[in-house]
Amino acid sequence: MRRIIAILVTGAVALAVAWFLAGLPGQVVAEIGSITIELSTPVATLGLLLTFTLVYVTLRLLGALIRVPHTLAQWRQSHHRQLGDVSVTKALLALAAGEKADARREAARARRFLGDTPQTLLLAAEAGRLAERDDETEAAFRLLADRKDAAFLGYRGLLRQAMARGEWTEAATLARRAEAAHPGAQWLRQERAQLAIRAQHWSEALELADANAPRAALATGAALVEPNADRAMRYAREAEAWRADPGLPHAALAYAERLRAGGHERRAQAVIARSWGLSPQPDLAAFALAPVEDKLARTQAAQRLTAENIEHPESRMLLAHTALEAGLTGEARHHADAARAAGLNERRLWLLLADIEEEERGDTEAGRLAQRDALRRSATADPDPTWRCGTCHTQHPTWLPACPVCWTAGSVRWSPGAMGMPVARRLGVDG
Ligand SMILES: [Zn+2]
Repeated sequence: MRRIIAILVTGAVALAVAWFLAGLPGQVVAEIGSITIELSTPVATLGLLLTFTLVYVTLRLLGALIRVPHTLAQWRQSHHRQLGDVSVTKALLALAAGEKADARREAARARRFLGDTPQTLLLAAEAGRLAERDDETEAAFRLLADRKDAAFLGYRGLLRQAMARGEWTEAATLARRAEAAHPGAQWLRQERAQLAIRAQHWSEALELADANAPRAALATGAALVEPNADRAMRYAREAEAWRADPGLPHAALAYAERLRAGGHERRAQAVIARSWGLSPQPDLAAFALAPVEDKLARTQAAQRLTAENIEHPESRMLLAHTALEAGLTGEARHHADAARAAGLNERRLWLLLADIEEEERGDTEAGRLAQRDALRRSATADPDPTWRCGTCHTQHPTWLPACPVCWTAGSVRWSPGAMGMPVARRLGVDG
């Protein structure tokens, strides 16, 4: 209805204008040189209107022609964006399905259509990683690292690559750059803690450690290597706070070492005695008896150390050893027999018994026979306890804050030899 009214109104206005123009009196005269043009006013007005319309249409057509390349470029851009979006989706699907060739091809297409954006570069890097093309992955991560808006993504990828190659110095540098690009990332904190463990920077590992980390082992490691006495004591105190952990005598040792270095020998001995009471371990005895040179005095020091748990096989072994050193073979035999009666059947016990026989009966027929018997039994006895990683089961000659094979912190523990299996059984020999 409105359209009809609009058409009627427009028609009426056009008719009124035409009627008005047709009714205009007078004429228009134009002289160009010797030519004289004479037109009535309505015809001249219509001619003027037609000329304006022609000029307007021509100008519009020219404008459209000039804009053709720009319009074409816009169309191509929009078309490429559509194709690129399709490739991104296909690349993501291929990555999820583990299809290496498809992922690489679609990631490359996405880069061709959309250019090097953080998304397409990350896709290219992931596709390269899936296809084990380290060079492609690294190139994409480097381009990402150069971008201000996605540098963290690039450094993170490069850091993982460096860690996989075992290039720890490079990895540490990349971790610092990643931290600068995106401070406070929780993932990065864990990676840096792991790098500090591999670099054996125990104090740094301790600073970066979360609540689940083996803080006692890291603090012990930091205390043992820290050259500054005050800082070493701070780490040792933190380690000592965990003394209830029976698998970590070196926490007590680190603290006792600082106390001894500070001239507090009595307190150092008390710390060691308390740790021996919780969980005896030969390194504790070595520390406690180190300042005592007189052999008889060493037996007395051993007696003081073991006073609280003399029945423990480790206490018996220590008492037997110190007694033998002091020439007290009767007492040495008494403690060795007590250890044996308590169920100890380790190689070291039989070797000790052989030494006792040698010391007591010397080069006699009975002595030689008893020694041979003890040595024979040592061959089929249980293996001696040792430091062993609880994760990868590698044996280590000493305690370490982290296993240097699998790099698990706090995993090296004093454990029964060969996983507690007797030698004979381990070798398949029926003892
Ligand atoms: Zn290990």
